[in-house]
Amino acid sequence: MTIRLAIPSKGRLHDPSMEILEAAGIRIEGAPDRQLIAGEADDRFEALFTRAKDIPEFVAHGAADAGITGRDIVAESGADVEELVDLGFGTCRLVVARPEDRDGGYEDGMRVATSFPNLTRRHFEDQGVEVEVVTVSGAAEATPHIGVADLIVDLTSTGTTLSRNRLEPVETILTSSARLICHPDRAGAVEELAFAVESVVRARDKKYLMADIPEDALDDVTELLPGLEGPTVVPIEKADWVAIQVVVDADEIHDKIHALEKLGAKGILVTPIERLVP
Ligand code: AMP
Repeated sequence: MTIRLAIPSKGRLHDPSMEILEAAGIRIEGAPDRQLIAGEADDRFEALFTRAKDIPEFVAHGAADAGITGRDIVAESGADVEELVDLGFGTCRLVVARPEDRDGGYEDGMRVATSFPNLTRRHFEDQGVEVEVVTVSGAAEATPHIGVADLIVDLTSTGTTLSRNRLEPVETILTSSARLICHPDRAGAVEELAFAVESVVRARDKKYLMADIPEDALDDVTELLPGLEGPTVVPIEKADWVAIQVVVDADEIHDKIHALEKLGAKGILVTPIERLVP
């Protein structure tokens, strides 16, 4: 049976969604038309290109079996969907921010501009503060300086947009990244897809390292590079030397290479990993 997959048609989640699907072996053609139509996908899949914001509802109502969208969007929608995989891109925080020249806490009667009215209402209710939520469709960051709101609740990743608007974050409501979601009854049907995508995500922050080392350095090297289950050790022609192969965290690769060299390693090779299934 064909699985229908809802994919963001544009915006910041579009390109990384297409890339991760391709890396997981799912080729989706017909993407550029960016409309709410089924593209010609791999014959196991059918693509439904639509706005990231609509994806939770589409999945919850069965228009798609699974989809890719932000955790923030899922939470705001309240749609009944299952989150299967954290895709590791589109990372951001939903924060309460206030003008830099204003301090003090929250007060009843404050106006809060946001495009996340549900999460905002719930957040202030939980804190026992009665605020007036002003729903905007975008550009909440402009509202405090034109007298529309005292505070905003908006997404931030680098913080540049906030500081350019002389706003400072005061509290994080939610941390978000893109997720593979599915209809609660379709988890079984999309299991294979989730597995493939997860193996790609897992591989992304890892590298594969190979090196020749003096045999008597093996204990030190194993301690330095425990990998998933210790390095793979392969005999080589050169007497008293072995080759090792091991999975390493990408952000540690420079330190590990340096330490390996100190242990006498030669011919160090580092390659990307396409998929990783532990
Ligand atoms: P779009 O409006 O279609 O470009 O996508 C917006 C989604 O991208 C948000 O709902 C978040 O899930 C994600 N995102 C990641 N970083 C940011 C950011 N700094 N600002 C807004 N959205 C972000």
